[in-house]
Amino acid sequence: RDAAGEEANYPRWVRVNAIKSSVEDQLETTFAGYGRAESISEVIKSHKKHVFLDPHVPNLLAITSGVDLSKTQAYADGKIILQDKASCFPAYLLDPRAEDGDVVDACAAPGNKTTHLAAIIHEHKPEFEAPAQTIYAFEKDSRRAGTLTKMVKVAGSHKTTRIGFGQDFLQVDPKAEQYAQVGAMLLDPSCSGSGIVGRDSMPELHLPDGPETKGKVGKASKPKGKDEEAATKGKRKHDNMEEKTVLIDDEGNETVVKSERDLEARLEALSGFQLTLLLHAFRFPAAKRVTYSTCSVHSQENETVVMKAIASDVAKRRGWRVLRRDEQVRGMREWPVRGLKESCDGDESIAEGCIRSYKDDGMGVMGFFVAGFIREGDQDEKEV
Ligand code: SAM
Repeated sequence: RDAAGEEANYPRWVRVNAIKSSVEDQLETTFAGYGRAESISEVIKSHKKHVFLDPHVPNLLAITSGVDLSKTQAYADGKIILQDKASCFPAYLLDPRAEDGDVVDACAAPGNKTTHLAAIIHEHKPEFEAPAQTIYAFEKDSRRAGTLTKMVKVAGSHKTTRIGFGQDFLQVDPKAEQYAQVGAMLLDPSCSGSGIVGRDSMPELHLPDGPETKGKVGKASKPKGKDEEAATKGKRKHDNMEEKTVLIDDEGNETVVKSERDLEARLEALSGFQLTLLLHAFRFPAAKRVTYSTCSVHSQENETVVMKAIASDVAKRRGWRVLRRDEQVRGMREWPVRGLKESCDGDESIAEGCIRSYKDDGMGVMGFFVAGFIREGDQDEKEV
């Protein structure tokens, strides 16, 4: 199926930005005149404009696709953010509270999850109830960091967010005084992007850039667009993996991953980089909660990274473990699609703790993975 055909099976997901608006406001203004759908399939199939209130993620709406919401005033004002449902899972799962202290978004551009974190913090503790928590949002790529800066400003989260412009998260010293109060961390690193739905207006494009993948995916690995908006128009088309995978960047350059071996090598490089980032996050002295996410459906980038992370020395020394399903926020506990048990060494509890989604499963979301990690007590002094 081509991208346009694929898009027809998805709604347009809209996150209402709690810093600037509310679901009630948006239903009365931007979506006034839209019929209320009772299910996601009704929104997808409807030929008329419909809106559906998502039962899992707060402040999330599904809208009949085909409407260009980027032309609305609410979008220009940062009152609504076009963000796939699954992409909303990490910040919601992390659920930073005042007692968690400061928050890190390690791989932040274009800023969907940074602004979501800011909105959640705002809802838990409105600004007038100082002291506010700080979000440290790091982005290695300067061009993408520019987009992040703009998005954070439009969404009204600039007062609480400090942007590490062009900052490699791996070069950030966890022991630095500045980060002494960081209790919650969101990690959404570059990945293969195998869960992305091939549509032009996808709000986030995962770019496996950087030395860890250079040369593995050829010219499609880096966008050459003039600006970030152009970059986000890039597409990936995943044909049958057995035959070939075509990566298409914003200028239409195609790179073909020809064999299963090419793909395996690329996934191995990516998962090594993803694990390194996760273990770096585990080292922040006050960190108690971490989420790790990808928009990949490959277990190598998902459950395998989780299993290696909890088996690591730093995890054992500091007491990191996977956040169980029964400990998760309600919407994530109730989300039915969970991790692959066979990729979790048969551990049912860890697999259940992992959250997955697949495109083409009728729920109208992209392919995605997220796991939460938690550390209780003060086990850092313990010797392994
Ligand atoms: N979280 C973003 C969102 O929801 O809008 C999407 C993040 S995208 C998957 C991954 C980002 O991480 C890319 O912008 C990439 O440039 C950045 N990145 C990759 N390695 C990094 C590193 N070592 N430090 C900081 N940023 C990094």
